This record gives sequence, C-alpha cells and structure tokens, in this order.
Amino acid sequence: MPIPASLKFFTFAPYFKRKAMTPDKKVYDSILQTIGNTPLVRLNKVTASLPCPVYAKVEYFNPGNSIKDRMAIKMLDVAEEQGLIKPGGTIIEGTSGNTGMGLALGAIARGYKCIFTTTDKQSKEKVDILKAFGAEVIVCPTDVEPEDPRSYYSVSARLAREIPNSWYVNQYDNLANRDAHYEQTGPEIWEQTEGKITHLVVATGTGGTLTGTGKYLKEQNPDIQVWAIDSYGSLLTKWHRTGELDMNEVHSYITEGIGEDFLPKNYIREVADHFEQVTDKDGAVMARKITKDEGIFVGYSAGSAIAGLHQLKDRLKPTDLVVVIFHDHGSRYVGKVYNDEWMLDRGFLDVETVRDLLGGLGRRRLVTIDEDAKVSQAIDLMKKYDIEQIPVMRDGEITGSVTQVGLFKRMIDNYEVKDFNVADVMDAPLPVVELSLRLDRLGNFINKENGAVLAKDDSGQYHILTKYDIINALSK
Ligand code: PMP
Repeated sequence: MPIPASLKFFTFAPYFKRKAMTPDKKVYDSILQTIGNTPLVRLNKVTASLPCPVYAKVEYFNPGNSIKDRMAIKMLDVAEEQGLIKPGGTIIEGTSGNTGMGLALGAIARGYKCIFTTTDKQSKEKVDILKAFGAEVIVCPTDVEPEDPRSYYSVSARLAREIPNSWYVNQYDNLANRDAHYEQTGPEIWEQTEGKITHLVVATGTGGTLTGTGKYLKEQNPDIQVWAIDSYGSLLTKWHRTGELDMNEVHSYITEGIGEDFLPKNYIREVADHFEQVTDKDGAVMARKITKDEGIFVGYSAGSAIAGLHQLKDRLKPTDLVVVIFHDHGSRYVGKVYNDEWMLDRGFLDVETVRDLLGGLGRRRLVTIDEDAKVSQAIDLMKKYDIEQIPVMRDGEITGSVTQVGLFKRMIDNYEVKDFNVADVMDAPLPVVELSLRLDRLGNFINKENGAVLAKDDSGQYHILTKYDIINALSK
C-alpha cells in the first residue's frame, strides 16, 4: 500500500543525512567507516523455483557481521548530538547479539564503556564475543517477569539510573534505529538495483530495518511491495492485519532476532504491505540450505526470510525483482542451526540415513573390550556405562561382541563364565553398516538377536547405533 501523504514528512528529520556511510576511498581511518555499502548478491539456487530474480543484501559484510552496526552507530551519533552521552560515558543496553556488537565497535572507536545485560538463555559464545570487545556483560535470569528487579530490563534500567554519564540505548523505541536504514540501507538498495526493485523482503524484530528501508524505497516508487517476515509466537503479524496487540498470539519460539511480544515504536503500520509468519523449523532448514547452495554463510533470520518468500511465491511474476535482507552471519549459530545434534533434538532435520542419525548423536566414546579381558570386566563396563553390548577388539580390529543377551544365556548354565576370557564367550561382531544406508533398511540388521550395529564415519572411527538411538531419532 502506498504511504499516505500525511506520513511523508515526519520523525526522520532532523537527523536526516542522505549520504552513504562509507567514504569512497581505499583506506579507512577507523573500522566504523567500513560500515555499509554491503554487496547485493544474486541467489542462484535457493530461489530457482521462483519466477523472478532474487537478490540478497548481504549485511554480514559489516565489521560486526550484521546489519545492526548501521543502527548502533546512528543511535550513538544521535545520542552524542543530543548530549545524551559525553566523552568517557557508559553505553547501556539489553542485548546479547548483533546490536551489542555494533555498540561495542562504536564504544571502542569513540572511547566509551559498554555494559550489556542479557539472559542466561543466550549461548556462552555470544557473551564471550561481547567481552572480547571490551564490554561488561551481566547475565540475568530468563524465567522472571520483566518487572522483576532481576530481569534484564530492570537491571539495565537501574544501571542507567545509577551510573553517571550513562546512556540507555533502547533500540526498540529509539527512532534513530529506523533512521539508519532510511539513510543507508534504502538508498543503497535503490542505487544497486538502479530503481528496478519491485519487492523488499525483511525479517523483522525491532522494526528498524523494515520501516526505515521500506519507507525510503516506497518514497522512490510507491508500487514497491514491502513484505515483513515474522515468527509464529510473535504478535506483530496479527497487529499488522488487525491493529490489535493480542497477547494470545504470544508463545515462546526459537528463531533469533525476529518477532516481538510488544510493539516497538520503530514500526509504522503502513510501510509493510504484508506480514508472513514462518516456523522455527522452516527458517533453520532454509538457513542451512542457503549456506550449502549459495556459499553465503547466513544467520537464522535469513533462512526465515527466504522460507517466507517461498510461501508467497504465487504473488510474484517474471518481471519482478526481489531484494531480501540477510541480517547476519552464520558463525553466530554454529552451536545451533549449524549443529546437527541441536537440529535433530528439535525435530528440524529429517533423519533418513545412518549418516543423518550419526550426525545427531554428537561425540560419543565407543566402549570396547579386549579379547584377553575377563568377562567380569565386560560386565563392569556394561554396568558403568549402562550399555547392553560391547564390541570386542584384538590389535585394533573388531573381532566379536559381548552382549547382555549372550552372557545371560551362558551364565545361567555356568556361573564361572565370569572368570573366562572374553574371547571364549564372545559372539560374532556386530554388523557394520554403510553411512548411506537408509534407516528403513536397518531392520535387516537390528533384530531380536542383534540390538545394535556399527558404522564407520568418514574419518574411519567406529560408532555404535543401538535400537534405542534409532527409536529416539525417529520419534522426534
Ligand atoms: N535478524 C537478526 C539476526 C537480527 O538480529 C535482527 C535484529 N533484531 C533482525 C533480523 C530484525 O531486524 P530489526 O530489529 O531491524 O527489525
């Protein structure tokens, strides 16, 4: 929908400077000058089934590896202009991620301290990265109400009151957030597409990227469609459709950086033409696909944006030109979206082969026993590790197996078996299966007699797959 005339000139003044942030030169005086002017890259495979070309604005080329560098520095500029923070002051924000990185970069370049509050839900890596950039990070409990004095909102608000010359950023309601995108992201996309863009697709959280970029582009061409990508569990989509802030829409979800349980002030309802919700699974699976198929190592919300675009593909025609924002870098998600075990635990990966199954099990030590060991030692190992079968080895080769079923049969007849050598009572080795074997074929190997199989990974290490592992993986 076109922007009503009444909305044309407002909020973005007086900080409006329509100039790209990066100066046109080969060397830079500070890392901050490398923010912006990110590449627009054509997607070749993940959008091949769509009728028109799709380009990604790859924002991880910013020095903090995300689009948030743009708004972090803009918010700091405005705070300095307004005298909200003075040299040597302290920047305070509730963040664990991308905004924190941008603010930390700004603090280094301009000599401020940073204190970030975050929740214990966030990964340790994220906290450590912010600390590496000199920020102090206070980890607060997740499971408390926002009003609780221990919550990360309350702690950051209290710090801002108590610490002299401190500035509480509040990216949600700080309108310099959307201004950054109105001044930089929007004009860059307009220039890079030579005004041919017809659709902008943006995964949205605080609303800064969506509103600032979308508003600028619509002012150039009111026919441009702006599509926001939201998460299930967020109230933004219903708000856009009905104007209502419905807390019944709100439930917890896994996707990071998008969706909200309240309405940040950075939103202008008229800027977006459509809001589309995407599941945690579809976003995560698509992020991995973008990385694998395009060689663009993207974060979670880029996956959501492309998955959402696929959901809307019937609305596109061959003459369209779509630009999708890729907000951040995949390195932030190596312990999550890019970790097979994490994906399998959440039922996000379809387990089809032995290789898929192994990927989801993580690192497990294979417990083995030597042929010359005593049966009593094998029994001790079974007790210690709570396992039912143990491969038997001689000179690094698997030569047989001891199983609870086999030992039980033998010990019923002769209790002395426990003092025998393993070699005297062992059964045949567990079957070794190929990594490419489909799970529905595993039934040929795992049965009443055989509770497990072995598989060799790409590095030649053996792994054991038990009945329980398979049931567990298939029941997710
Ligand atoms: N994706 C990621 C990874 C983010 O960190 C954010 C910021 N919350 C967004 C998307 C949404 O951007 P915005 O806050 O500008 O709406």
